[in-house]
Amino acid sequence: METAVPTVTGPVAPDRLGRTLMHEHVFVLNAELERNDPSSFDAAARIPDAVAKLTELREAGFATIVDLTVFGLGRDVARVAEVAAGAGINVVAATGWYTFTDLPNWVAFRGPGTMQGGDDPLETHFVRDIEHGIGETGIRAGVLKCATDKPGVTPGVERVLRAVAAAHRRTGVPISTHADAATRRGLEQQKIFAEEGVDLSRVVIGHSGDSTDLDYLRALADQGSTLGMDRFGLESLGGFTDRVETVARMCELGYADRMVLSHDASCFSHNFDPDFKARRLPDWRYTHIPQDVLPALRERGVTDAQLTAMLVDTPRRILAGRPS
Ligand SMILES: [Zn+2]
Repeated sequence: METAVPTVTGPVAPDRLGRTLMHEHVFVLNAELERNDPSSFDAAARIPDAVAKLTELREAGFATIVDLTVFGLGRDVARVAEVAAGAGINVVAATGWYTFTDLPNWVAFRGPGTMQGGDDPLETHFVRDIEHGIGETGIRAGVLKCATDKPGVTPGVERVLRAVAAAHRRTGVPISTHADAATRRGLEQQKIFAEEGVDLSRVVIGHSGDSTDLDYLRALADQGSTLGMDRFGLESLGGFTDRVETVARMCELGYADRMVLSHDASCFSHNFDPDFKARRLPDWRYTHIPQDVLPALRERGVTDAQLTAMLVDTPRRILAGRPS
């Protein structure tokens, strides 16, 4: 059963999602930095800048992005809604938690097994964001997000993964992860999700495209999950040629319907000096895929049908629950 997909500007019919970038960010912020140093984020300049960048993406033929900015990354969906409305593009918001290690004390001190006990505040927030909306914005999250990086499944990370799985079971919303590919963290995520009764075909293992290890990628896909080939332009973690070649090889091996393409880019991030980004990562932007990656994939023999699978059909299946 397909369902309308919630976006920051309202529900969208599945056939209106069009070409979709499955792992992007609009603004990545540190809320505490912004609270204490308001000059660290100039909304009056950054919002029009984001509108211009997403307008350029829409004009390049894309109708939707998934913004995987959650707790821990300074999520502010009211601002994102302003940007989406200005650019005329669909933005799917996410809920979940981004940490490689620990949880803050307002979470760590509460929930089952803690001194105070009670419901797990993670699961409570995730389900509320999906069913009621984020804060009082009325904007509902359409994806659940969690992360496992080099430190592995620490107690804090395990709590997030199991809370995301519980919220998925209760709501049916898909899961999209950050997974360190060099340490094959995606397999650990799948193991925990399987223990928790998650439908692995509704899971995107993110940053899989940082790896050229076809055995790792096939192992993830053979368990039903989709591979996020989602950091095009982030050249420090993998070169353009390797990223393109890996997608092309996986297409040849019959996995075109188990991959999605994206950049993991943002319009502004507190984590990156804008001058550094412009100088060292010039292709880490929303239009790198339409301008550079798609021509290179076609050149390498990837067919239009395979591109449509990666850009339209699989995103729709994951976001709207379309049967595969
Ligand atoms: Zn990301």
